[in-house]
Amino acid sequence: MVVRVPQLSPRHRRKRMEGNQHKLEANIALLGAESVGKSALTVRFLTRRFIGEYGDIESIYSHSDVIDGRETCFHIWDSVCPQEDNGAGHYINRQLQWADGFILVYSICDRASFNVVRQQVQRLRQASGKAGATPIIIVGNKRDLRHRRTVSSEEGRLLALSVDCGFFEISAAETYHGVLLVFHGLLDLIRETRALKKGTIGIKGIVRSVSAVFGKKRNE
Ligand code: GDP
Ligand code: MG
Repeated sequence: MVVRVPQLSPRHRRKRMEGNQHKLEANIALLGAESVGKSALTVRFLTRRFIGEYGDIESIYSHSDVIDGRETCFHIWDSVCPQEDNGAGHYINRQLQWADGFILVYSICDRASFNVVRQQVQRLRQASGKAGATPIIIVGNKRDLRHRRTVSSEEGRLLALSVDCGFFEISAAETYHGVLLVFHGLLDLIRETRALKKGTIGIKGIVRSVSAVFGKKRNE
């Protein structure tokens, strides 16, 4: 695991890899209100562990794995307090420039965090404009605290459907599997979007991919 200070270095890594058809790289940014579990999700994915408390250092982590027989490198931007943006949109614009896909996290027992995701997804959709829809997965985290739930699964799923995003409800605290589904689901969407941009698949491919994300088992 490599930790770097976030900075807007363009896609130099991807360019460097252009000659190597077998390696896939994906820049993934996590957004959402404070304390919803963005760092917990990131650390779970990177180490398979839930360590309970996380600092609030903003970082980009790099992590390589072999997925479907292909070497895949994830660069994961774990955001801190994105709402400090003051409405100017600079933060989200920087992330839009950098990221191939987003994971927007809320806590199922924190309605305010659900509203933050609702606003952020709308801003992302508006900001990406003509560049085309950026792949996004909305995640309702802390499923283990369902006795304190204030956001129903249906609300989460409906929001995701209305803005054309994938959706999962998970518990980063309880299992690794749900977190893995989120990152792999987003990777599938990123691959389909790239293929569509290159013109190598049609709209049917995208529909297939979105269905795959929605159709995957959400209960770990
Ligand atoms: P961030 O500010 O969004 O990065 O949130 P953190 O990852 O730092 O998590 C905030 C708090 O929520 C920490 O105390 C975590 O242990 C806790 N937390 C994260 N995910 C879960 C979860 O799935 N279930 C429960 N019960 N707590 C969680
Ligand atoms: Mg954090």
